[in-house]
Amino acid sequence: MKADLHCHSSVSDGLLPPAEVSRRAADNGVELLALTDHDDVAGLAEARAAAEARGLRFIDGSEISVSWRDDASFHIVGLGIDPANGDLCEGLKSIRAGRDGRAHRIGAELEKAGIHGAYEGAARYAEKASIISRAHFARFLVERKISADVKSVFDHYLAKGKPGYVPHEWASVAEALDWIAGAGGVAVLAHPLRYRVSRDALRAFLGEFKDRGGQGIEVACGAHSFEEVKECARLARHFGLKASVASDFHGPGESYADLGKVPPLPDDLLPIWHDLI
Ligand code: AMP
Ligand code: MN
Ligand code: MN
Ligand code: MN
Repeated sequence: MKADLHCHSSVSDGLLPPAEVSRRAADNGVELLALTDHDDVAGLAEARAAAEARGLRFIDGSEISVSWRDDASFHIVGLGIDPANGDLCEGLKSIRAGRDGRAHRIGAELEKAGIHGAYEGAARYAEKASIISRAHFARFLVERKISADVKSVFDHYLAKGKPGYVPHEWASVAEALDWIAGAGGVAVLAHPLRYRVSRDALRAFLGEFKDRGGQGIEVACGAHSFEEVKECARLARHFGLKASVASDFHGPGESYADLGKVPPLPDDLLPIWHDLI
């Protein structure tokens, strides 16, 4: 089964509309697709219709931003959720509401660093989206030729410790896991090795995640090297988590991996979709 259970559309910070994401996945040979826009479910109906029209199986998803301990944040992907669930929708709405104030604060910090009009510039890139994300800021800074590409904007301006970074309070881990479980879904830790935390902190997080009902971890991940995929496989075995496959595709030319272009899962791991299809 060629699966891709993590990607974004223009509903959040992806470049393509939901239906085009599904069609591109089909063209790339994906058989099982989940759309997982940040903190929203608004693209799922359109993506599902386009996926099913092309014979793909489709799973409803969302990537939820959470805060943990003093200043860490993680992304938890909910898969197989009911997009109409009231508590889930209210929870995601509250995260989206917090994003606009955060974006104003990012704009103010960039202003101090001599970059003018970044909030307005990012908001233009987010015009069709229901959220404003750092990816929209990154696109504006590239447009202004302040950095050569999106990745170097993060390295120099938007990552923790850089001039445009602001701390933010997202949902708690308990809230996100409750919303996902309440909506009938399973929770998966996204891109485990892309957080700016120590390995000890990551392991502590995974222990807590598992204890609270988290079921999966992304192992074959577009943002991970071959060695990192092996490390995530070891984490999956150690914590008894099922394995997911994730391109984290945002758009042609902007992402580590295109839809479906993800390494295979090690044979001994139980794929997360066993529970979902
Ligand atoms: P936010 O949810 O607003 O904190 O923005 C996070 C988003 O920024 C991620 O989902 C990616 O789309 C993008 N992003 C984060 N780090 C990087 C990076 N190093 N290179 C490219 N895009 C990144
Ligand atoms: Mn993103
Ligand atoms: Mn993420
Ligand atoms: Mn993502």
